Amino acid sequence: MQQQRVYNFSAGPAVLPEEVLKEAQEHLYVLPGVGMSVLEISHRSKTFDEIIHNAEALMRELLNVPENYHILFLQGGATLQFSMVPMNLMTTKNKADYIITGYWSQKALKEAKKVGTINIAATTESENFTRIPKQSELKLDPDAAYVHYTSNNTIFGTQWNYIPEVGNVPLVCDMSSDFMCRPVDVSKFALIYAGAQKNIGPSGVTVVIIRKDMLERSSDSLPIYLNYKIHADNFSLYNTPNCFGIYIIGLVMKWIKNKGGLKTIQKMNEEKAKILYDFLDENSDYYRGTVQKDSRSLMNIPFRLPNEELENKLIAEATKAGFSGLKGHKSVGGLRASIYNAFPKKGVEDLVEFLKEFRKKN
Ligand SMILES: *Cc1c(COP(=O)(O)O)cnc(C)c1O
Repeated sequence: MQQQRVYNFSAGPAVLPEEVLKEAQEHLYVLPGVGMSVLEISHRSKTFDEIIHNAEALMRELLNVPENYHILFLQGGATLQFSMVPMNLMTTKNKADYIITGYWSQKALKEAKKVGTINIAATTESENFTRIPKQSELKLDPDAAYVHYTSNNTIFGTQWNYIPEVGNVPLVCDMSSDFMCRPVDVSKFALIYAGAQKNIGPSGVTVVIIRKDMLERSSDSLPIYLNYKIHADNFSLYNTPNCFGIYIIGLVMKWIKNKGGLKTIQKMNEEKAKILYDFLDENSDYYRGTVQKDSRSLMNIPFRLPNEELENKLIAEATKAGFSGLKGHKSVGGLRASIYNAFPKKGVEDLVEFLKEFRKKN
């Protein structure tokens, strides 16, 4: 029996396009022309070579990734990147700049401190991470090995709407929760990383886009899996990668391309977010957004109700009505609607209707 799907507002792992799930389901038993499932094929086979090459080529095309960048498919989540970035990139100079805008940048900072000296170039912690700092607030060290920031703060619901200007210092970005939600000028970055499970696939794959000159910094003394150069030289196939995850990413890339590319995806995301933000603004005496307007995320929308009792009631009733994953992260409380690329517009409209009704009754 086919079960009804609910609206999945989870922050990650998160909703995937229905078309992708259906194609994966159809081909899970045997990949056409292969006679085996994608779960069973060798990562050294010609079939898998085509799968990984196709995923990479589509991502390169959609994001307009220049020739002088590698795209890697690694494991260990964004969390391993918190360590790999400093271990590989801080070899030339033992210091780096970190911009702190929330929970995940703090986690990245903690790991980087184990490797070298960190300058906090800006932080909005004293304002409870309710906004993104302005360019003029960044206290950058022109001699830093790199600058690290988090483009979208999954838990606090803020998102950078500009790329920080960092001069000649390499720019590194954790894009886990807004990767491919809109076009981005990759050439402004030395390294971009993103766990796939928020916006482009299942958990277990981390995408790393790294400018080729950065590989010169990776020392041979690094543990082999932690060395970017090893992965780049072996086209992400030094060891067995997450074959299934990479296959799904390829299907998601195809889905994005069929939608019309990242400009269209951005427009869809802006439309969806506007529906919910407009509603919150009109009902701000009851539903209270928690971040400053100019820092609002397209992906994760946290909000509070007049009291915790009502919040718990709403979450319980929403879950019953088919709106899953609305509970906010424990550090912010309240509710959070994560509406990634694959989240349907109809789901946001239905949520707004539900919130309207809830307010009337409570
Ligand atoms: C989810 C998330 C992470 C952690 O990702 P893992 O894959 O669980 O290691 C890091 N950074 C951001 C911005 C995230 O949203």
